Amino acid sequence: MAQLQRITISPQQIRDNQVVLEKEQLHYLTRVLRLSDGDKFIVMDGVGKWWLTSLQSEYGEILEALEVQTELKVSISLLLALPKGNGFDDVVRICTELGVDTIVPIISERTLLNPSSQKLERWRRIAAEAAEQSERAFVPTIYEPVSFTQGLNLFEAEQKYICEGRGDNPHLLKCWRQVGEGQLKIVIAIGPEGGWSQEELENAVNAGFKMVSLGRRILRAVTAPFVVLSILAAEMENNS
Ligand code: SAM
Repeated sequence: MAQLQRITISPQQIRDNQVVLEKEQLHYLTRVLRLSDGDKFIVMDGVGKWWLTSLQSEYGEILEALEVQTELKVSISLLLALPKGNGFDDVVRICTELGVDTIVPIISERTLLNPSSQKLERWRRIAAEAAEQSERAFVPTIYEPVSFTQGLNLFEAEQKYICEGRGDNPHLLKCWRQVGEGQLKIVIAIGPEGGWSQEELENAVNAGFKMVSLGRRILRAVTAPFVVLSILAAEMENNS
């Protein structure tokens, strides 16, 4: 299937064969994504149903229900402190191949890089290419870089983790095995080369994030996201 943009709706927005779009959704589709009447996009109801839809004025006309087999059962959003150099290109590409849903580049206290707007375009292009290559139904969403504090409050999710290699934190796999069944979304934060500051860790915990380990070795900032996704994807797909 060609890569199409997608939006999440609530099940109540479906009437007969139409999706009643909210104002912000319409703005996103027409102004941000620049879709016109007749253009196709995907709607997801967040509880496992996805439809191919065509934009018709203020509505989405449902064309067909989609059976998606290449996507992970649970949406994974990564908050990733930007590493130095071009390391983020590989992070975007490989995380896309591994099934990430959303990547939010984070400017943390110890982030060394403040990326240009061309970088964002480049990352989105890389994500689209990687999604196509790995035969995904969706192109992951790459956010504009935001501050750590903004990132902490971006998503509603029951399972929110912050990776921290120092200290006696439970392993991500152990935490996920305790709750994984039935979850819809998971948010995971990974720090930069210099790690998180103590204050950032405390703020994350206060915002509902649980500190987790990825094992006994300290991984590079660009390696940690692959480990997170590999662990979770293997667990989800092994149980499917
Ligand atoms: N300089 C930092 C230190 O000494 O703790 C290391 C930072 S590490 C290169 C970059 C990020 O990867 C960390 O902030 C953390 O989010 C993640 N990370 C690396 N290894 C980890 C591990 N074993 N467990 C959990 N998170 C890890």
